[in-house]
Amino acid sequence: MSELDVVVIGAGIAGLTAARTLAEAGVRVTVVEARHRIGGRILTHRVGGETLELGAEFIHGRPPELWALITETGLDTYERDGSQGCFKDGSLKRCREEDSAFHPFEGLEEFKGPDVSFNQYVAGLDATEAQRASARSFVEGFNAADSNQISVASLGAQQRAEDSIEGDRIFYLGAGYDRLAQYLANRIVDYGGSIRLNSPVREIRWSPGSVEIIDDKQTFSAPRVILTIPLGVLQSGSLTIEPLPETILEAASQLRMGHATRFTLLFRDAFWTTTRRSSRMQDLSFLFSLDEMPPVWWTTHPHPSPLLTGWVGGPRSAELASLTPDQLAERACSTLARIFSLKPARVQNLLLGCYTHNWNSDPFALGAYSYVGAGGIDASRQLSEPVAGTLFFAGEHTDTTGHWGTVHAALRSGLRAARQVLDQTA
Ligand SMILES: Cc1cc2nc3c(=O)[nH]c(=O)nc-3n(C[C@H](O)[C@H](O)[C@H](O)COP(=O)(O)OP(=O)(O)OC[C@H]3O[C@@H](n4cnc5c(N)ncnc54)[C@H](O)[C@@H]3O)c2cc1C
Repeated sequence: MSELDVVVIGAGIAGLTAARTLAEAGVRVTVVEARHRIGGRILTHRVGGETLELGAEFIHGRPPELWALITETGLDTYERDGSQGCFKDGSLKRCREEDSAFHPFEGLEEFKGPDVSFNQYVAGLDATEAQRASARSFVEGFNAADSNQISVASLGAQQRAEDSIEGDRIFYLGAGYDRLAQYLANRIVDYGGSIRLNSPVREIRWSPGSVEIIDDKQTFSAPRVILTIPLGVLQSGSLTIEPLPETILEAASQLRMGHATRFTLLFRDAFWTTTRRSSRMQDLSFLFSLDEMPPVWWTTHPHPSPLLTGWVGGPRSAELASLTPDQLAERACSTLARIFSLKPARVQNLLLGCYTHNWNSDPFALGAYSYVGAGGIDASRQLSEPVAGTLFFAGEHTDTTGHWGTVHAALRSGLRAARQVLDQTA
């Protein structure tokens, strides 16, 4: 192991991207991963001929680095379109412009401060209470965030970032998101790098130009390390960094790990296309039922399948987080029965399985994805600065381009960290 130039901790998209770039540049690199698999918060499951995601599913817009990778892999993508349904006061209709949560977001991309939480910001807006509630619900659902904590300046930055990549368009990979991770892993190995699974790193001891990385089985050393562990893991201290730089500690404390519960139900058939209530929504893609639990659903439209995914992000997700898949399924079926005006037993009888992963209690994630706390808009930039040319941080939470919490943010951060290493070794 003394032959290594760089050790990358974590085989999610950030770590795999960094290692792939380094390996292709002739750097001797190994990736050390705690789990028995690669991909991190990309977790694809295949059942009964269907491919379903338990972590990331969507490609948000057209981020160039992610699309360049997809083009390189030759994988097929599909765009999610179709109609959006809104369930309110016992009736299911196509969502109308006036149901939209977006009015309080107008002008947010121009936001100049002072930075406060989204709730504080929205309280000062000329909006109805219903619009405020709907905006809060949207922010919490989309960002997996607490609207009492999330920075409004970061939402402005996110808005600008999304505008620059057609962020309102949604795509997905038909073969599964995990194919991207596998492609990157193959490239690492093809170029002489390696990936060590089942190796949770417990401790890092370092001084400038020298790092010792200690996992359950061994200690190995290299002049540099790239840490891509999720924010929740970094904050938990389950991996000790000795000494822990003050700047890193301070920056990490200004970011928050968001929580979400997501589950996919596999039914015998796509019953929601044939109920009387949904007869004019054959092309249903998203369904919003803000007073129900979960408040957000989506189908696989335009790809026909008997899969329905439920989502709740932010503080409301705690209500579902502790349920077993069976309890989750029962709860979800009664919500669906209300939405589509069917008997709960009928929906239950059509159910073949409920698939989920508890990211909150997963020790190698400790949450879904990060967001910026009020006043912490500079924290990700601080995390992205190399420490003494020896410690480099990457991962979605270190993105400096406003795309926190996404696959493309992770990918960008991996490219950035690899570039920083290469700049130093040139
Ligand atoms: C439910 C859910 C839905 C999502 N939906 C979307 C979506 O639709 N679109 C989108 O763009 N993004 C989505 N995301 C976010 C996206 O998945 C992440 O932003 C991205 O995958 C993060 O990549 P990463 O490399 O930064 O971190 P990770 O993928 O978490 O990789 C970090 C790696 O570090 C490993 N690790 C942790 N601790 C240790 C240790 N001590 N030693 C060694 N290894 C360790 C972990 O096991 C993991 O493999 C979603 C996330 C979740 C949870």
